[in-house]
Amino acid sequence: MSALTAAALERALGDPSDPKTLFSYARCAELDRAEAFPEAICAELDRLGLPRQYVPEEYGGALAGLQELADLVRVVARRDLTVAIGHAKSYLGAACVWTAGTPEQARALADRLSAGAPVSWGLTERAHGSDLLATGLAAVPDASGGHRLTGEKWLINNATRGELVCLLARTDPAGGPRALSLFLVDKDRLAPGAHHCLPKQRTHGIRGADISGIAFDGALIPADALVGEAGHGTETVLRTLQLTRTVCTALSLGAADHALRQAAAFAAGRELYGGRLARFPHVRRTLGRAHATLLACEAVSLVANRSAGALPGEQSVAASVVKSFVPERVDALIADCGEILGGRAFLTGVHEHGTFQKLVRDHRVVGIFDGNQAVNRNALINQFPVLARRYREGRVDTAGLAAAVAPGSPLPPSLF
Ligand SMILES: Cc1cc2nc3c(=O)[nH]c(=O)nc-3n(C[C@H](O)[C@H](O)[C@H](O)COP(=O)(O)OP(=O)(O)OC[C@H]3O[C@@H](n4cnc5c(N)ncnc54)[C@H](O)[C@@H]3O)c2cc1C
Repeated sequence: MSALTAAALERALGDPSDPKTLFSYARCAELDRAEAFPEAICAELDRLGLPRQYVPEEYGGALAGLQELADLVRVVARRDLTVAIGHAKSYLGAACVWTAGTPEQARALADRLSAGAPVSWGLTERAHGSDLLATGLAAVPDASGGHRLTGEKWLINNATRGELVCLLARTDPAGGPRALSLFLVDKDRLAPGAHHCLPKQRTHGIRGADISGIAFDGALIPADALVGEAGHGTETVLRTLQLTRTVCTALSLGAADHALRQAAAFAAGRELYGGRLARFPHVRRTLGRAHATLLACEAVSLVANRSAGALPGEQSVAASVVKSFVPERVDALIADCGEILGGRAFLTGVHEHGTFQKLVRDHRVVGIFDGNQAVNRNALINQFPVLARRYREGRVDTAGLAAAVAPGSPLPPSLF
């Protein structure tokens, strides 16, 4: 099966303005009001082969590069962020296995994921949030060669729906940089009663999403659940976040497309004082600024996505820059578009099924997960001494840089 292109996905999903289309604006608004997970829409994305795009080519999938994946995520996000965040989570959940798992682990996961099994990623805990080094979920070695898990992960996307969950857990109670390890846990292989999923949290945005958690009570997991070497969990997560923080910005670009489409159409069609709204200089200026913001975000995302293949050694910088820049700029863009829509931006059922106010609420979360702006700026600032030293030494990968900024030029394989 060939790779799914963004244009083919868009075509296959049909006209989102037609309420009879499965993945329509109307249906997404309805599901949001009911706080219901978009099961049927996600099943359709599975049927169209989207999960295969989350799997690297070397394991039988179609993932060739981050930009191709970002283009697909953007198509989905342009229609609805609940769906995009709920579905693309499986890429985030699987990415640590692509980064550090064995070929056998990766192939087994590839088969499950391609068949539509949701994969979740559990890093955060109630008491620790961004402070991953304080992870408390304990993984204690067992005589069987496996580990026993005790503790919980909370505020986890798809923790309940997910068939598999990739977990960061403490393997060395003494602490230190080698205290954490990663495990890919197959919920079906856990003994009855050894785990339970935590209740769905009601949320401000992406109301239908499965934002819940998972708790373990001495759950035995097999030896082959360990992803990467024991004690290397932190560095695998940091390497993987370089990819996921980068590709997550496609969610923001899709949201920006949606907001701009509504604002531009409204400005072009709205009659006030005997003429079109679009003739007012202030409106034109606001729309122009929003378009320029989208282009800037698109350019930064493009370079960051391409850098994953062209400049992998510098991806820790690109990922921090793009994740701290794009979601925050798109929040501002959405605010600009909301100003143009006036009261309709605030109504839940009148204009375009009330999807604008949903978009405003939904997009807030893109800046929160995978590290918010402050966390990513902090990660960038921590790299300043190395960057300054390399700059003084005149060390630059000219060929990698040229490839990163030249859309369409061939890229070496990414670091999946
Ligand atoms: C809808 C939703 C879905 C989520 N899905 C997942 C998921 O699938 N998997 C998962 O593991 N987690 C998930 N999370 C959790 C999310 O990653 C955390 O909310 C996030 O890591 C922040 O943790 P916290 O909310 O506990 O805030 P805290 O860690 O308590 O931080 C609060 C604030 O302190 C500031 N801060 C923290 N650290 C720094 C720093 N280093 N430098 C400067 N300022 C800092 C920031 O402003 C931050 O927002 C989800 C959260 C939500 C709301």
